[in-house]
Amino acid sequence: MGDFNLTVILDAIRRSTGGLSRVELAQIVGLSPQTISNISRRLLDQQLIVEAGKEGNGPGKPRTILQLNPAGQYAIGVHLDPAVTTFVVLDLIGDVVQHARITTPGGGNPSAVIATIASTIEALIADSGVDRSRIAGVGVAAPGPIDLDQGTVVNPPLLPGWDRVDLRDALRDATGYPVLVDKDVTSAAVAETWAGGPSGSGSFIFMYMGTGIGCGLVLNDEVIRGTSGNAGEIGHIMVDPDGPPCDCGQRGCVKSSCIPQALVAEATQAGILEGPVDALGAADIQDSFARLCQLADDGNVHAATILDRSAVLVARAASVVANALDVERVVFGGPFWAQISDRYLAIIPDAINGASAAAVIHNVEVVSSGVGEDVGAVGAACLVLEHTLAPRAQRLLLET
Ligand SMILES: [Zn+2]
Repeated sequence: MGDFNLTVILDAIRRSTGGLSRVELAQIVGLSPQTISNISRRLLDQQLIVEAGKEGNGPGKPRTILQLNPAGQYAIGVHLDPAVTTFVVLDLIGDVVQHARITTPGGGNPSAVIATIASTIEALIADSGVDRSRIAGVGVAAPGPIDLDQGTVVNPPLLPGWDRVDLRDALRDATGYPVLVDKDVTSAAVAETWAGGPSGSGSFIFMYMGTGIGCGLVLNDEVIRGTSGNAGEIGHIMVDPDGPPCDCGQRGCVKSSCIPQALVAEATQAGILEGPVDALGAADIQDSFARLCQLADDGNVHAATILDRSAVLVARAASVVANALDVERVVFGGPFWAQISDRYLAIIPDAINGASAAAVIHNVEVVSSGVGEDVGAVGAACLVLEHTLAPRAQRLLLET
């Protein structure tokens, strides 16, 4: 597309509710009516926008409303999680038109995983029936740390064998589409800003409850990536001075006391869950964690105590970040969130507001993601749409 004014206009239409007339567009983006008219023509020719009825009953000519054309462009989103890989086809207005979920192949063989992702994408596109020429690219949300410049995944926890794997280029070669890689927590935050509704505006942190716990940062509607694209690492915030030792040398970090693996280990040691304590794979942890949540929901007091206590600890970590950034909202989501949301939402809002440095100035809202369980994959697809549509100069890695 490559035209700044064009992306400015598309972005203004996207952010409006219900579309904008050419006159309104000229007022909002500060371009001349002639420029607006020319660019609107181009966008209509490219089928990225449509004319959607007329507005105005007062004197003067009724104004034609311009809206994004949902079928004007699509993006594929992939969320690579150690346990489950999720796929979506997203249309231009951010709606999921096709969805798939597979168990992430184990065995420490990234090439095999990438081949599986490529073939699943192929099947997904075929099932969706969308016009392939309108697919802008593939976005991948991957566990950190990542090398944003190289598009590589660098030794994430619970993905053995993934040491500097060239995910972006390998997937581009396998699919033929441009590919863009970002961190899972960042993708989740991007999804919230695009498709989350009211919870995705302004300044908020996205507490990502996955195999690990991370945090996406959004300040004044802008997603913060940091120097290397690895912002949001909160695993070593200490939340319990007497907690289990962490690989960093401290005790009671988020990573050693709150993540599903740690809670499963705690429950197993206490005899609440059966099975080995250590060396569990990602899928085992997911199963065991689901069992722990089920036990708590069925009234097992010991299981409930472990989860409720973890909510208090997670709230401490969220408070540290919320206070540091003075956000208005904490959004929770990610693959493990649905199972614990009721329990956590009964505890965390009071805990965060009780610890808020700005409590006398403003309340901190605590909510579930407006995007739902596919938030990582939706965010990955939004990255591609954002690359196409958003006029901001961001470090993005679309390789063609
Ligand atoms: Zn630590």
